[in-house]
Parts: sequence; C-alpha cells; structure tokens
Amino acid sequence: MTTSTTSTTSRHSAVRVRQDFLDFFAARGHRIVPSGPVFPQDDPTLLFTNAGMNQFKDVFLGTGTREYKRAADTQKCIRVSGKHNDLEEVGVDTYHHTFFEMLGNWSFGDYFKEDAIVWSWELLTKTWGLDPDRLWVTVFAGDAKDGLPADEDAARIWIERAGIDPKRVLRFGKKANFWEMGDTGPCGPCTEIHIDRGGPGSDPRDGADPKIGVNVGNERFMELWNNVFMQFNRQDDGKLVELPAKSVDTGMGFERVLSVLQKKNSNYDTDLFTPIFARLEEVTGARYEAGTSQRDIAFRVAADHCRAVTAAFADGALPSNEGRGYVLRRLIRRASRFGRQHLGARDPFLCDVVPAVVQVLGGTFPEMRAREDHVRLLLRSEEESFGRTLDRGLVFFETLATKTEKSGAKTLPGAEAFELYATNGFPQDLVELMARERGLAVDLAAWETAQKKHQTASKTEGRFKQILSGEALASVKPTRSTYHESGASAHELDAFVLVAESTAENEYALVLDQSPFYAEGGGQVGDSGVVRAADGSFTFEVRDARRMGSVIVHLGSFGGGRAPTIEALAGSRVRAEVDLARRERTQKNHTATHLLHRALKEVLGGHVAQQGSYVGPDRLRFDISHPKGVTPDELEKVETLVNSRVFQNAPVATTVEDLDAAKARGVVAMFGEKYDAKVRVLDVGGWSMELCGGTHVSAAGNIGPFVILSERAVQAGVRRIEAVTGPVAVEEIQRTRRTLREAAAALKTAPEEVPTRIEAMQTALKEAKKASAKAQGGDVDLVFGTVRAALERVGSTAFGAFDVPDLGLEGVRELAEKLKSAENSTAFAVFGREEGRVPFVIVCHNVPKSSQLGAGNLAKIVSQSLGGGGGGRPDSAQGQGQTPEGVPTAIAAVRSAIAEGLARS
Ligand code: ATP
Ligand code: MG
Repeated sequence: MTTSTTSTTSRHSAVRVRQDFLDFFAARGHRIVPSGPVFPQDDPTLLFTNAGMNQFKDVFLGTGTREYKRAADTQKCIRVSGKHNDLEEVGVDTYHHTFFEMLGNWSFGDYFKEDAIVWSWELLTKTWGLDPDRLWVTVFAGDAKDGLPADEDAARIWIERAGIDPKRVLRFGKKANFWEMGDTGPCGPCTEIHIDRGGPGSDPRDGADPKIGVNVGNERFMELWNNVFMQFNRQDDGKLVELPAKSVDTGMGFERVLSVLQKKNSNYDTDLFTPIFARLEEVTGARYEAGTSQRDIAFRVAADHCRAVTAAFADGALPSNEGRGYVLRRLIRRASRFGRQHLGARDPFLCDVVPAVVQVLGGTFPEMRAREDHVRLLLRSEEESFGRTLDRGLVFFETLATKTEKSGAKTLPGAEAFELYATNGFPQDLVELMARERGLAVDLAAWETAQKKHQTASKTEGRFKQILSGEALASVKPTRSTYHESGASAHELDAFVLVAESTAENEYALVLDQSPFYAEGGGQVGDSGVVRAADGSFTFEVRDARRMGSVIVHLGSFGGGRAPTIEALAGSRVRAEVDLARRERTQKNHTATHLLHRALKEVLGGHVAQQGSYVGPDRLRFDISHPKGVTPDELEKVETLVNSRVFQNAPVATTVEDLDAAKARGVVAMFGEKYDAKVRVLDVGGWSMELCGGTHVSAAGNIGPFVILSERAVQAGVRRIEAVTGPVAVEEIQRTRRTLREAAAALKTAPEEVPTRIEAMQTALKEAKKASAKAQGGDVDLVFGTVRAALERVGSTAFGAFDVPDLGLEGVRELAEKLKSAENSTAFAVFGREEGRVPFVIVCHNVPKSSQLGAGNLAKIVSQSLGGGGGGRPDSAQGQGQTPEGVPTAIAAVRSAIAEGLARS
C-alpha cells in the first residue's frame, strides 16, 4: 500500500512534469496550444477525442492550415468507444484510463523522424533522467497487404542518432506499429517507447522475450510514448493515399510517465489521483489498499469515471439515451454499481468526488472549475435516478445468476438479462461485467433479439442518415451559397441542377450549382421554397435544406406529382426561390435568440451557457445551463430587457473577422465549438455579440414584440425557455387576453378582479370541504377504533401501517392526530384515497432515539412504491402517492422498516 503523496511543488509533481514537457517543446520552437474539447463538435467519425492529433486532423489531411508548423499541448482524451476503447481494462490494470491526458508534439510538414526521435529520447533520458537500460523501442516491420515497407529509417535513427543499444530496438507489425485514428483518416507507421518496470528477479533483457516482453500484455512493460509519422489517409474503401505533407504526431500518456517519474507501480498512486481517492474514502467510508480486490478495483473505476464524466460535462456534453450521452450514462451507471456493491455507497457519491477532481485538474483545464457546480448537479441527478432501480436490479441479477449456475449453465439467458436493461436501466456492458465477475457470459444474440422487439420503430435516427448517396456527393462541387448576400440573391437566384436523386416515393434530393437556401444549422431550421424550371416544365417544392459537407441539398417533392425523369433534371436551368415570409419569421426569432441569450446572462449571471437551441418560423427554443428554475420575476426582467432593445431599434450588423480577434474582444462563442479561422460575428446594437452563421433581421425593431411562453427543466441543471416574436407574439398576447376575458365573464366580474375573486372562491371551497369532512367525522371515529386495536407493540411503542381507503386527505390527517394523542409513543403510517391518489400521513411520536426512525425517511420509502412526492419533519410527514396499486407494497415496506428500527432500539 502506498501512502506517501507527492507535494504539488516537488521535482516530479504532476504540475511540474506537465510543464516540463511543454517547456521542452516550447524551447524547440513549438507553439503551446490549449487542449481541444473532450469531444469533437464536427467530426461524425468520432464520439470522443481519442488522441492529441484530433484537433489537427484537417491539417494532416491538407484541408486546413494553422499559422504555426510546430505545436505541443496536453489533450483531454476519452477512450470508451470506437477504434480505441479501453473500458474493460480500466480499474483492473493500473495504467489504462477512460479519461487521460495525452502529451503531444507535432510537426506539420516541418521536421520529421530524426528530430522527433532524438527529442523524445533527450526528454526521457536527459531531462527526466530515465535509465536507458529500462527503455525499449519498437519500429514498424512492414505490411505486405497494404504494400508497406519496414521502417528502416526509424531503426537507423534510434541506433545511430539517439545511440540506443540495437538489441533494444524491436520490430512489430501493423497492429502495434501502424497508428490509425479510426477506420478512416490520417495514419502512418509509428515508433513506440516502452518502459520495463522491473520487479524481483527480473532480467533487463526480458523485453525482447516474445513470451513476457514488450507488447504481450505484461504489465511490467508499459507503453509510454508513441511517435507517429503521418504519411497516409485511409479512405472509406480501405485504400491508403499519400498525404500532401509528411508530418509528426506524438502522444505520451501523462499519467503513465508521471507514475514512472514518481516511482509508483500504478498511475493511481500519483498525485493526480491521491486527492481523489482520499475524497472517495471520505464519502464512502471504505479504504483503498492499492491491491486487486473488487473493492480496490471499484475505487479505481470510480476515480477514473468521475474524471471522465467531469471532463465531458464541463465541455458541454449531457447524459442521454443515445450516442455520446449514453456512453457517459454507462460510465456513471458502472461506477454507481461498483460503488453500491463494493464500496458500500448508498447514496449518490460520485458527485461529491467532483471537487477533488476539479482540485487536481482545474488549474490545467479551467472549464472544469468554471462548471463545477453544473457538473455536480448533473451527476447527482444521474446517480439518483439510477439509484432508484439499482438495488432491484442487483437482486434480479443475483436471482438470475444463481438460477443459471444451479442449472450448470455458463451463460445468462439473453432475454432475461435484457430485462435488467429494460426495467432497471443496466447497460449491456455492465451486465456483461457483472456476469464476468462470476465466471459467466451473456447470450448476446438473444439479448439483441429481445432488444429489437423492445425498440419502438419511432426512433428518430433517420435524421442523421445520409440523404444523398456517397456516390452522388463525391461527384459534386461545393454549392455556392448566397443567403448572406445583401441583394435579392439572398433569397432568389438562377441556377443549374447538378444532381437529383429520388429518396422515396415522390421525394427527391436536389443539388444546385448555387443556392439562396439556408441549410439547417446553428439551431436555425433549413429554408423552404420552390425551385422552378426555367422552361416552366416543373415546380419542385422545397420542404427543407440540409448541408452535407460543403454541398447544400434541397429536399422536397414535385408539384402536381409530375416529376421529370432524373436524367432530364440534371443540367436543367431553374430559378430557386426561398419562401421569404417564412424566412423572415425565422429571422425574427433568430435575432431574438441572441438578445435572449444576452439578457439571460445579465439577469441570471455569467454562468449561463447555451446548451442547445431551435430557431424556426413558429417559435424559438433556448436551452441554458442554470442550476434552478428561472422565477417569473426573472423571466419578466429578461422579457423587458429584450423588448427594450427591440424598441430602441438596435442596429444589427454582421462582420467577417479573424476568430482570434473576435474572441479577444469578447464575442460569445459556443462552448467547445470549433470554428474556422474567419468567422461571422453578429452584433446587435453593441449589446449582444456572438459568432453566428444564421440569417437575421436588419434592425431589432423588425423583431416586433417578444413574449416568453414557458420555462422548464429538460434535465438536471438545464432549463428550456420558449418564446415567440412578431405576429405570433401578437397572437399570443391576444390569446391570453381572450382567456382572461372569458374567465372574467364566467366569474361575472371585471378582468382585473379575477385573482381576488378566485381567491375568495377558494377560501369558500376550503370551508365547505372542511365542513363536509367534519360531517364525515363519524367515519374517522369508526376507523379509529379498528386501527387502534390493530396496532402492534414493541416495548411501550405502538406501531403499524394501515390502508384506510374510505378516508380522504382530511380524514387521514384527522385519524393520525387522534392516534397520536391516544398513544404516548407511536410510529405509524395511514393511507387514504382521494381522486385516484393516495394521501398519506406518517407519524413518529416519542419513539426511542436509538431506533433512528424518522417520518421523513419513512415517507421516502413510501414514495418508492407510490411515486409522487412526500416529505416532512422527523416527527410527522405527509404526501400524495400517485399509484394506488402500490399501497400493499408501501404498507409492507414501512411496517418492516418501523419494526426493524424498534427492534434495534
Ligand atoms: P496501449 O497499447 O498501452 O493501450 P496505445 O497503443 O493504445 O497504448 P496510443 O494510441 O499510441 O496508445 O496512444 C499514445 C499514448 O497514450 C500511449 O503511448 C500511452 O502512453 C497513452 N495511452 C493510450 N491509451 C491510454 C489509456 N487508456 N489510458 C492512459 N494512457 C493511455
Ligand atoms: Mg490502447
């Protein structure tokens, strides 16, 4: 067990080592750049950033440029999906994480193998003083199938220029020494540096032993650093094509090199993790012993996953049921299960570990510090929701596993295992892991079948489907887009049809050489309109416009059902006309969205960040990160602020400028979003300045009235605001006034008298209810006798739980009062019925302290089977259950909780 920690200022502290790396390459002409976000915004081939080179992919491919030729950084990476997925290793071994920092240096067509190799050797053996006799390097041995020769250059440089012992240069094939970002993309041969961590009786020559040495999965030999020589692009068809320039891309595992420099056997024993473990021990009460027990694995998993989730949430990801959000949800659920089963954590605990993660990483990644509260809130809510079904799932699993074992089988039946997912939310990989812990497998084929049956056809995945075939797209030139021009070409234009494809029955996708249509993007919906043949032979009604790469695709159908042939379409002259009225309504909402964003920041605070938006002709929707509900007062303030800019008729101006310059003058950019070097900045009266490619009104007055329709939570920490503008806002105002007028008429009073009148009526109603409850008092008395007689006793305390369906809310209250005054010491719950709901009262009156019984806690137990809310003080609680079917379970649960508590005392 390791107890020593490394102080944050010592020679090899995390902070120092990270800085050493950056300083080393800064001194060799590298620009130090910030880490990109932990997930790329615009690369559909990747869910998460898996290597330092991701943010430079365009440079390697030759489609983008930077103003520097050498760069270095520490990049936040997550490897839990796609080509690079280390999830199963995490926690079990000591050096694979889901989230880790990759230290990297790059050359974009500048230096190549020689400098890269010599520098990496110098940093490791000179600057950091690692013993060369503990280091091994590998080079690419060539691949016949891809027609690639062995990398003799690299081997020669290692021996002649770095001076490494030739016996320490090993050769490996494609799997180890040809690095690829994904199934497609930049790639090339690589050379890796591995360290021999030694051990009792180990021979320094073992690294070359093909049974125990480098690259055979022996923890003793750990890969530290990979130097990739980017030379090719792997295409969709699997072919390799030479890149325009030869580049260098390196990646070193920061946590790994740190463990070596701090002389630890495990990444988790470094000062990057020790504060996180200390916090975990504090919140769970369990102790970490750095071993291989399930408990120690659970510690490592929890620490690791908490880092990953903090990084992802801080960059703006949200948990969800698909894609990236589901990967995060899976990590959280995995950690919850480990915590519950192996650390004894009952309540949400990961969220309380976030501050320790921020303490360690917040200095390097300020976004984590800035969004700490938001991360905690999201995490707590995720943990709470899974916590509600976790225990039940564990019991279900236990039964299923035991049954399987008893039958002598080694595989859990898939359909039943799938139930764990369907009813308790256990992700597939978690079920597999739990099975593996008991030496069982899961019948995945049967799982898939069950899942297919379960899935409703209503999934909205079609949205992201390819709308035009790759073949059609490959042959098309980028569309010249004119929507942002100042004249008529912004909405109508003569053009040629380049490609037409039928996508369904009378559904077509049309590509023009140039187009005034705005393609869906930045929250704004795509334009609709018409494309007319110049010779009048057809009218194509455009329903939507989408962007695919640099091509705009017009989706729609032919008017009158008369479609020309595809062949006749291609090359025909057309006039493209945007539905201007719809565009204008959309524009009002778009400019209003910018004003709304600014006003929210002003009223609620600078922490408000955009989490998503929809801007259509009908309304606008804006999601923000904010920890609690926005009050009606705050909403009014926001509304007033926006409208005041409208009344001032604030001018709207768009400029194209350098991204860096725009950011420097405080223009708001979407969190983590990647932009081109030249960006469009939308400025409304010098008050709101945001990067935006959408369409806007020319002066704020054009927006007309701005009215907020609603505000609500979409998930923990995220609020959604919906609003309308222009004619729709006028309609909205008229509609509410009409409703008020009608209400007033129904009450036979003036509109301004409505609230007072309703208040008076409610008082009268309450009185009437009270009176009628009194009239039913006979019933309470009747029930009282039966219930009292049925009370059980432990010592001098009377207890029980009773269903009294004849009583309503007032009735159960009265009954509870009576029971309480009749007994000196009592704990009980009574459940009534009213309008399909279950009003209940729980009392803990003068119960022994040592029983630890509290009415509030018992109410929580009840809510588990009845749904709905409830709460109160330790001595009395009440609530409304939603599901009367749950009453028997609730009764059994409270009764046994009380009985247990009393037995304890
Ligand atoms: P390994 O074989 O150890 O999984 P890799 O070949 O997948 O490593 P690369 O893709 O070359 O690694 O990444 C560059 C460096 O990043 C590695 O040399 C290693 O130090 C580090 N690294 C890779 N994966 C992880 C991980 N899951 N956790 C921590 N560090 C990692
Ligand atoms: Mg790997």
